[in-house]
Amino acid sequence: MRHDIWKIILILGLGGIFGYVIGNVLAGLVLAALGVIGWQLHRMQKLYRWIQSPHNYPMPESTGQLYLLHRELSRKARSSRLRKKQLTALFSQFRQAVSALPDAIVLIDAVGQIRWANNNAEHQLGIRWPADANLRLGNLVRDPKLHTLLSEAPLKHDSSSPGVGVEIRSSHNAERVINIKVIPYTEELRMVVGRDVTRLMKVNQIRTDFVANVSHELKTPLTVLRGYLELLDGNKKLDPSLQRPIQQMAVQSERMQLIVQDLLFLSKLEEPQELSSRESIDVTHLINTIVEMIQPKVKEHAHKLELDIDYDLRILGNQSELHSAFSNLILNAVNYTSANGIIKVRWRRSEESSDAEFMVSDNGAGIAAQHLPRLTERFYRIDADRSRDGGGTGLGLAIVKHVLQRHEAILEVDSIEGVGSTFTCVFPENRVSSSSDMQRLADS
Ligand code: ADP
Repeated sequence: MRHDIWKIILILGLGGIFGYVIGNVLAGLVLAALGVIGWQLHRMQKLYRWIQSPHNYPMPESTGQLYLLHRELSRKARSSRLRKKQLTALFSQFRQAVSALPDAIVLIDAVGQIRWANNNAEHQLGIRWPADANLRLGNLVRDPKLHTLLSEAPLKHDSSSPGVGVEIRSSHNAERVINIKVIPYTEELRMVVGRDVTRLMKVNQIRTDFVANVSHELKTPLTVLRGYLELLDGNKKLDPSLQRPIQQMAVQSERMQLIVQDLLFLSKLEEPQELSSRESIDVTHLINTIVEMIQPKVKEHAHKLELDIDYDLRILGNQSELHSAFSNLILNAVNYTSANGIIKVRWRRSEESSDAEFMVSDNGAGIAAQHLPRLTERFYRIDADRSRDGGGTGLGLAIVKHVLQRHEAILEVDSIEGVGSTFTCVFPENRVSSSSDMQRLADS
């Protein structure tokens, strides 16, 4: 700065002397000032050209204040070039990593247009990048389940898990099954992740077939065994020492028969046809039948059974599946509540929506929070002895879960250990009808 000021003073001084020599000091000073301005403008012009395109112009050799400015600018330009290089390298590494993932990754915007896709998106979903850029994913992968998933997936990022997704057939190879999940990650972008689950589905199918086959093979021998045991049980001619073992064999064979029955029923529920039929079911009648069936057990435990039922409300579903689910829930309430308990069965529209709720609550043993997530697993029991004593197979809630899935319904469980439990089956509006609707249909 001082260097610049001295230079200007010197030029102005020379201008003054020149003016004095020609007899007009002011003209000399003005001339010198114009020279200083022109000189500074020229330097700034050189600096500006260099900033604009550093590759086409030599670096201006400035001095003084402009030199400092120029030095700072070139330092900033160098570091920003370096950062750009590093970011480009990082970005291309990231893209390579995402491309190398075994999953198909497709980025879509709010209306479902493709913004980017990795290599596996072509193998699994038939989406080619960049050829399919800006096309709608739903138009390229035509599957109603994917369509529903895309329309229902939230746009805004939320921390909840993306759920189980949907399984669709690969458009490239119909034998392959792809699980699709949609994960929102910015205000308007969503990531569609496709994973090949063909092997998993095959293993699942083998397991389901195996359980179904074994249960089926056990059915006939067990029926024969039970027949003979019934004949022997109570036979007066039999040695008295054999009577107790035979009674125990009869009880155990009955238990085995119940397990086999439940396993066969579960296998049927798992068959590929995913949703149940839509017959109009008179739920009031269904509940009355179950109540009649369990009345001896209710009396045996001296429970009080309270019913709160909307007689008009019906379900569009499958009678035997719903009978099994509802009876399992009521029987559990009866079995896991100590004597003189209160069991409430409620069938009504939800208070907040048009859904319908089948609710069973008790003031029994309750369930500790850590068991709740695993309750609907096959053979998951909190107290195996108590379950067996009550005639449980350990499959009841697994059956309830499957039946509800086939009716597009969900199971909610609220329980406090030592206080009681409430199991609620929530049926969506599209599965609910009413007797008055039926009457109107019959009249028209
Ligand atoms: P189980 O045949 O053993 O009853 P379920 O699948 O119906 O099998 O139930 C699984 C477990 O959940 C039961 O063993 C029991 O420990 C617990 N459970 C179910 N319903 C209730 C209830 N109403 N109160 C307390 N515990 C329950």
